[in-house]
Amino acid sequence: MESTARELYHPVVNLAYELDLLSAQPHHPIAMADIYSKTKRSEIMAAVRSRGNKATEIALVLLLRRHKLWGWRRHVSLAGKPDFVFPEERVAVFVDGCFWHGCPAHFKAPKSNRSFWVTKIRSNKIRDKSATRQLRKLGWIVVRIWQHELKGKAMPSLEKLTRALDASSKQQRTRPKFER
Ligand SMILES: [Zn+2]
Repeated sequence: MESTARELYHPVVNLAYELDLLSAQPHHPIAMADIYSKTKRSEIMAAVRSRGNKATEIALVLLLRRHKLWGWRRHVSLAGKPDFVFPEERVAVFVDGCFWHGCPAHFKAPKSNRSFWVTKIRSNKIRDKSATRQLRKLGWIVVRIWQHELKGKAMPSLEKLTRALDASSKQQRTRPKFER
């Protein structure tokens, strides 16, 4: 809690917070950030990214609680750093930000430094795919949820998740339990 309070008063994070308010259109923060120097911009983007992630992760926590889905953990060290892990069911959940992970519906490359951003987001997508592949090889069921899917009642993401958890309980009869 203390660190959250400190973060809120950090000027860059405060600015990021304001920018993040515009993130319904994910390209906006970048367009605004372009008025800053490169260093300043990446500082702002890092802050926007972490705050954006925090907001979507909180949205998922609330969704899980609302639908009484328990047994998940955070910060489990696995390929690609999943946002949520259900260790018993061996389900790894990623919440992908629409901008940073190149959502087909919402990613729009900023006008300035366009090629930089296109390359950056493309490499993020490659990294995401490779993490998914690695986890699947290890027997994990991987669920990727777009940031935009967590808006409103978030039924599509909930369905994805419950399908994965159900599939896992069927599989569990034929495989040894996950060792903690
Ligand atoms: Zn999206």
